[in-house]
Amino acid sequence: MKKRSLFFTLLLSASLIPGAAGVAETGGHGHPHEAKGIHIEALPKPKDGFKDLAGKVHVEKTTKTKVLDEKGNTAGTMTFEKNVNNSKFSTQASTGKQKVSVLAVADKQFRTKYKDWKTRIVQIVEEADEMFNRDHDIDFVVEAVAPWNSSGKNASDILDNLAAKFEGQPYKFVAGFTANDNFEAGGIAFQYPVKPDGPAFSVTLDMGTENSAKAARHEFSHNFGVEHDPQGSGIRCIMNYDYAYTVDVWDEAHNELIEKNKVWYQ
Ligand SMILES: [Zn+2]
Repeated sequence: MKKRSLFFTLLLSASLIPGAAGVAETGGHGHPHEAKGIHIEALPKPKDGFKDLAGKVHVEKTTKTKVLDEKGNTAGTMTFEKNVNNSKFSTQASTGKQKVSVLAVADKQFRTKYKDWKTRIVQIVEEADEMFNRDHDIDFVVEAVAPWNSSGKNASDILDNLAAKFEGQPYKFVAGFTANDNFEAGGIAFQYPVKPDGPAFSVTLDMGTENSAKAARHEFSHNFGVEHDPQGSGIRCIMNYDYAYTVDVWDEAHNELIEKNKVWYQ
């Protein structure tokens, strides 16, 4: 009986909350992606501002990551050794069978701020993929890192700028990292209704490697077609703004959707 009333309460509150479908941008300044039914979803910044990861991140397989130059040519490689010891998720498989190639790029402001920008953006992606490995057998592999010169007057413009510059790239995901002052969100991504034509795009603000990883996994989820849970609903899921930075689970419906849509990135 108790369960039942809780169920109805959730249903009711979900239908009463304005903007329950998310904070999709309605600026209408002609995003090329909007025509295809692709939503743009922006995540607010965390309350605690800046936080770096403490300790090593898990790298599921040793990876030789290409370092690309401004023109997209390979300028060198960096090796990130496999490191899956003392896994936080020891009760479950920590290495996903489905490897998803990622091009991680950092804008000029990010690269100016951090000499070790390449390592930082690989760390962010590797930390962000923990939940995907644990729950969906998906392992993000940063096959290349590259510089990017971001431009735009807000987060949405900057996402468009990333997509325009890297649309032809042979990677499943292009993950942008920014320290551009015009980027007012914690992260932003395209929420695809169907498999995208090229790579899936997201941009995450520099908020320290830990907070950026939390934002990035939320953005990567949008790339799998996952939408927001309504704020105030009490639904514990990283797609609920109330919990985006404080839990490490998806709700049941989102888990099902990621399982269904992960075939997009095979
Ligand atoms: Zn979002």
